[in-house]
Amino acid sequence: MLELRPVCENCNKSLPNDSDEAMICTYECTFCEDCVKNKFYNVCPNCGGGFTKRPTRPSAGLAKYPMKKEPFHRPVNFDAFQDRLDKNKDIDPRMR
Ligand SMILES: [Zn+2]
Ligand SMILES: [Zn+2]
Repeated sequence: MLELRPVCENCNKSLPNDSDEAMICTYECTFCEDCVKNKFYNVCPNCGGGFTKRPTRPSAGLAKYPMKKEPFHRPVNFDAFQDRLDKNKDIDPRMR
């Protein structure tokens, strides 16, 4: 089941269930739209994959399976990320 993480892993922006800015990769790495577009160029810093908008969980489901509460703020080390970014940013995520 999709893990609903409460913040952008990089900048710690709040990303509630109904956020329009929450983006996820295939491993549920969760970032805000601004970081994904303007800092990562649609390359996940953790896995190199692309992102898609996180779907909102309906309230009935949210009561049973709530958002995660653990801290997920782990700012990206851009020096370490640069290689992965250069390698992937010009390749369609479907082709990586
Ligand atoms: Zn962010
Ligand atoms: Zn990822």
